[in-house]
Amino acid sequence: MNAVIPIQSDAGCTDAPVLRERGQREVFCGLTGIIWMHRKIQDAFFLVVGSRTCAHLIQSAAGVMIFAEPRFGTAIIDERDLAGIADANEELDRVVRQLLSRRPDIKMLFLVGSCPSEVIKLDLSRAASRLSREYLNKVRILNYSGSGIETTFTQGEDACLASLVPELPVADTDEASLVVVGCLPDVVEDQFSRMFSAMGMEGVQFFPPRSSRSLPAVGPNTRFMLAQPFLGETARALTERGATHLAAPFPFGVEGTTEWLRIAANSAGVSAERFEQATRLSRERAQRALERHRARLEGKRIFFFPDSQLEIPLARFLSRELGMTLTEVGTPYLHREHLKHELAMLPSNTVLSEGQDVDKQLDRCRAQAPDLVVCGLGLANPLEAEGITTKWAIELVFSPVHGYEQSADLAELFARPLLRREKISRDHAQEVTCS
Ligand code: SF4
Repeated sequence: MNAVIPIQSDAGCTDAPVLRERGQREVFCGLTGIIWMHRKIQDAFFLVVGSRTCAHLIQSAAGVMIFAEPRFGTAIIDERDLAGIADANEELDRVVRQLLSRRPDIKMLFLVGSCPSEVIKLDLSRAASRLSREYLNKVRILNYSGSGIETTFTQGEDACLASLVPELPVADTDEASLVVVGCLPDVVEDQFSRMFSAMGMEGVQFFPPRSSRSLPAVGPNTRFMLAQPFLGETARALTERGATHLAAPFPFGVEGTTEWLRIAANSAGVSAERFEQATRLSRERAQRALERHRARLEGKRIFFFPDSQLEIPLARFLSRELGMTLTEVGTPYLHREHLKHELAMLPSNTVLSEGQDVDKQLDRCRAQAPDLVVCGLGLANPLEAEGITTKWAIELVFSPVHGYEQSADLAELFARPLLRREKISRDHAQEVTCS
């Protein structure tokens, strides 16, 4: 059998210095993850135990979805509940009972903690155990924190999946298995499944699954690959269950997808010929689709504020496949082990920053005068008002962006704001000429 060729790269940013900042930060809290996770695990419900602010956050972020097929809600703990923790626990139990009696389709319930002090005083893990006993064999009840004090927005998914790891069944065979970890839209999961099957890799599982009844089994022969770079706690919990992490670049863009699939293929002993056969057409199609975006993005300067932890893989994609120049790449947290391939593939002069001191970073951004800034919603409006073109980081998490088929869509997410800005400038120039 021929070995599949490993990725080639020089050291890139492997040992590059990182500017670490621990000041004020502007980023959504971990509750935001509910917006994409509720679509994935179709028999789960996310009950935020929080304040009216939390309820507004998830309702406005979710937009109209809440009216369609609600799989999340908020148990509002207000001042009345401050009178006594016992009352707050009773109130929570009452809300859960009411919810579960109305919605027998719910098979998994997450109690999601938040930051108001009255919620912090509630022990949600005890509440989850107490309610689990009551709904034994009917509904799994788990808890995690989405609080803005402990989590940035993608860390909500990490906390949720980490809370699920103890629930995964024990693998009862010696057969090697592969699990893809990270919430992927169904369409992307189906594409990857087809690609694995084409390589002869049957039975690759996805975590989280679409149903709480299809949790993947884990054991010492389980290998797992991350589909998202922000799953540090989940990876740690899986490793503690005996599974082995296969580090890889993340499947963004043609190169990232190819290398991610190649590492999966290597682990299953797929031959180089079979890998080539299975990936060539999709790879070439994706490369062609990227060309028109390259024409627009090449040479443009981009600045990343820390937001989703997707920044480093996305910067790698934009610089290597679309020719963009990286001015600063900020990330809320830099997991060196999980990002080692990505760091090695970045241009060696990339300025990396971890954490945030928002005013200082805004000054650096203005001084760089980039063509495009990737940032949270809170920073986007003021920067746009200053004439700086922005891309909302949250859109990159909501949209299907993994894999070959989505590579051009991902590039387009960066090209679109530049197009919009050009159009505004053109319209403005015409108005000036006409007047
Ligand atoms: Fe709720 Fe805290 Fe998030 Fe605000 S930051 S929405 S209070 S969890």
